[in-house]
Amino acid sequence: MLDIEKIRQDFPILDTQVYNRPLVYLDNAATTQKPRCVVEAEMAEYYHYNANVHRGVHFLSEKATELLEEARDSVRVFIGAEKREEIVFTRGTTESINLVAFSYGELLKEGDEILVSAMEHHSNIVPWQLLCQRKGLVLKVVPMNDAGELLVEEYEKLFTAKTKLVCVTHVSNVLGSVNPVAEMSRIAHEHGALILVDGAQSVPHMPVDVKKLDCDFFVFSGHKIYGPTGIGVLYGRENLLDRMPPYQGGGEMIASVSWEKTVYEHLPYKFEAGTPNYVASRALKVALDYVSTLGIENIAAWEHELGEYATESLMKIEGLRIFGNAGKKEPVISFLVGDVHHLDMGTLLDRLGIAVRTGHHCAQPVMTRLGIEGTVRASFAFYNTKAEIDALAEGIEKIRRMF
Ligand SMILES: *Cc1c(COP(=O)(O)O)cnc(C)c1O
Repeated sequence: MLDIEKIRQDFPILDTQVYNRPLVYLDNAATTQKPRCVVEAEMAEYYHYNANVHRGVHFLSEKATELLEEARDSVRVFIGAEKREEIVFTRGTTESINLVAFSYGELLKEGDEILVSAMEHHSNIVPWQLLCQRKGLVLKVVPMNDAGELLVEEYEKLFTAKTKLVCVTHVSNVLGSVNPVAEMSRIAHEHGALILVDGAQSVPHMPVDVKKLDCDFFVFSGHKIYGPTGIGVLYGRENLLDRMPPYQGGGEMIASVSWEKTVYEHLPYKFEAGTPNYVASRALKVALDYVSTLGIENIAAWEHELGEYATESLMKIEGLRIFGNAGKKEPVISFLVGDVHHLDMGTLLDRLGIAVRTGHHCAQPVMTRLGIEGTVRASFAFYNTKAEIDALAEGIEKIRRMF
């Protein structure tokens, strides 16, 4: 059991007043708030350990390098990867996917096929569209049902001898659906294809083990798991990353450079051109440690309770429709009320101190599939309370009556 009131004291921003009301922060799928220890870790880096990594012979540079590599190892353990060579630091989920699309994409040839699911975030669509244009590949879409569940039988039918890669989100940022990625990995591998899993919305909410998922690539962002912005992770199988050409060229990623022949660094540095965001890497480690101390199982249990409580409370409101009713669901609730425009609902909730997201949530094809333009989305984190959900439900009801 988590002591939520005590935990909330670790997040100074939760004490903010907006329009003279206590902030109710329900936009955690966009970004999470940071515990004091994460902010302090960044500060400590700049105050005490700042020096460029992998370069200096001096004390501080060695210390900074050691902290960066320690962070890499924490990430490795957190997602159950076997080797540190398989953990590449990036700017975030988006950059991790672009890295794979560019680099792994170089190994593909005209006519090869890529499958993406119907519920992807734009960052797991557009890089593949760019690649398809660049290399003459074919993009196919794995359909979903009205509840927001991927149709696994249809998925299996999409494979041909030319299918090379499947790109799927572990958890939908709009619908909350938890996709059966272990099963999808098995099916992809049976057909000789690889699978990339977008873990931006799963890693903060459930235990993740890339070995059990048996995925080939796994990506996530630091800022959605209580870490800083500007840092993200790409996990890739070592033998794959080894075969892939560099994504960017520059310092850090080379072993030697001459006009005749440049030799690239070994993994993971081959994919980390330029001075990395070592400060954020360190703070990400602190965030992962924080999550581990609370216990990801405890977090999952509380967030599920919040999700169920919110679903029940909101369903009592006249004319409210929830989008995304998958059997396995994370605590994200997308909804509309009667004819109230999502933007009006979001703006008026904001006036009550309640922060939600409105619009297409960077997943326009999902909106098109559901025949709507946008939704209001309330997304929860372990520091949220049932009282906050009551405030949300009361706010929605009040606004509904105004229309
Ligand atoms: C937020 C999100 C992304 C993009 O993450 P960035 O941190 O903006 O790069 C990708 N996929 C999903 C499912 C997301 O929720």
